[in-house]
Amino acid sequence: MDLGCGFTENRSGGLVYMTAPNIVAPHAFTTRLGGVSCGIYASLNLGAASGDSRGNVEANYVAICGALGICADNLVRANQVHGSTVLAVTRAGWTAPTDRAPHDADGLVTAERGTALAVLVADCAPILLHDPVRGAVGAVHAGWRSTAADIAGAAAAKMALEFGCAPANILAAIGPCISQCCFETGSDVAEAMFALFSAPHERERVARRQGGKYFVDLKAANTLLLERAGLRAENISVSDECTRCGGDKYWSHRATQGHRGSQAAIIAVP
Ligand SMILES: [Zn+2]
Repeated sequence: MDLGCGFTENRSGGLVYMTAPNIVAPHAFTTRLGGVSCGIYASLNLGAASGDSRGNVEANYVAICGALGICADNLVRANQVHGSTVLAVTRAGWTAPTDRAPHDADGLVTAERGTALAVLVADCAPILLHDPVRGAVGAVHAGWRSTAADIAGAAAAKMALEFGCAPANILAAIGPCISQCCFETGSDVAEAMFALFSAPHERERVARRQGGKYFVDLKAANTLLLERAGLRAENISVSDECTRCGGDKYWSHRATQGHRGSQAAIIAVP
């Protein structure tokens, strides 16, 4: 099913996950639908650190990896800290995605064949990158702090440095996250977005003042940052779904006040 902006809703067994129209590597933006977790984690929770049963989270990883045709043992996931670090990785030295990771990072890139990357989100923006020319992929967790630190641009730069990727060849997909409709913030978050951009037409896109409040657009900010990094506008796809508006389908930190599981964005080197 096409849900607008070209993203496709896929069903496999009980799983529901989204794919982007422009990424040809195996990938998924998961939802909370499918899986075996119970209670506040029902049911496709991929975050093991929030109190859910480890066995259930492991089963959920096996299910989504099976749907994508990748091996859960080949999945690399870092400990996310809302920073701007992007690591180039291979599978060696990393723990299972249900264990605490040995390294902190909010972006991962790899060109190791068969290796898959995952980031966890629940309102923050998940960004997947793929250079089909160099066979490299990336996964980024972009909350507002990492967005303000231009982690999207850092990931593209890391792919260029480590794997010789030309930014013009990199395909990017910004998945479901909290949209501007629901991302009401204080002036600190809006000012952090304004600080990234000087052009009035860009500043108008990334944050809007309404009454005494601000509404920030993480999708627009990261789109502009990817374009600044050299990606072509036509190579960037953006989901139009909002995790908070779509709280029945997606984990939303705001909608659940933090009592929640996590969805993942996953991509594998073909
Ligand atoms: Zn919304």
